[in-house]
Amino acid sequence: MTIDVEDYFHVSVFEDTVRRDRWPSLESRVVANTARLLDLFDEFGTRGTFFVLGWVAERFPSIPRDIAHRGHELASHGYAHRLIYKQRPDEFRDDVRRAKKVIEDITGHAVAGYRAPSFSLTERSLWALDVLLEEGYRYDASIFPVRHDRYGIPNAHRWPHRMTVGDGTLFEVPGSTVRVAGINLPVAGGGYFRLLPYAWTRWGIARLNRVERQPAVFYLHPWEIDPQQPRLPAGALGRFRHYRNLHKTESRLRALLTDFSFGPVRSVLPECA
Ligand SMILES: [Zn+2]
Repeated sequence: MTIDVEDYFHVSVFEDTVRRDRWPSLESRVVANTARLLDLFDEFGTRGTFFVLGWVAERFPSIPRDIAHRGHELASHGYAHRLIYKQRPDEFRDDVRRAKKVIEDITGHAVAGYRAPSFSLTERSLWALDVLLEEGYRYDASIFPVRHDRYGIPNAHRWPHRMTVGDGTLFEVPGSTVRVAGINLPVAGGGYFRLLPYAWTRWGIARLNRVERQPAVFYLHPWEIDPQQPRLPAGALGRFRHYRNLHKTESRLRALLTDFSFGPVRSVLPECA
């Protein structure tokens, strides 16, 4: 179970319409939405990994503290929510270093994991793996083995696995897919969870667990359980992806937590525990 902790206005859909210097002036809803997710996970006895945006942790240090206090794993979503392939390697290094330090300074817990904004670790940004290893990260969860307009490495390995990177090793925890007619279809989280019927997610995770004998990596954002969030300008596709079915997410999440059991990423990567 993985949560990318960011506010509704950080999402890449709004990158061109909501300038970064406006972020501090927008109504923030991430504290309340994250608390709702934490309450839900307490109710079901579920523990997960929270990839916290450094910008959010810095402004609201109670968020990473609360996550740690309630027994979840803390990880990094980078600092400023910039797509990897739109940064130079030195900019990316500063971003992931700053996020790791902010979260570790607040909580005293070592951060082992990283997930990129919008799974932006693609063929043209594979150099980022070397940077992550050099900056002290132990695993990455940013590669999605699918075709998509903004992300994806369609032929990437589909399971959590160890990779040789430079002189060391890094674990990769890819987004979950099921393979149908030779194509990888995304199955567990975010827009796929909200836009497609719940039956798709349930079928996909069951298939991964029972047929392929693998854990599923489910992901969600706190803003996805908040139908009342302020509306921001974006193109038609972006608005559809962001706002559709927000009112259904919480009841679906309850169904998911009833049908399956989840744990933090470190529970499938014992070397990172
Ligand atoms: Zn994000």
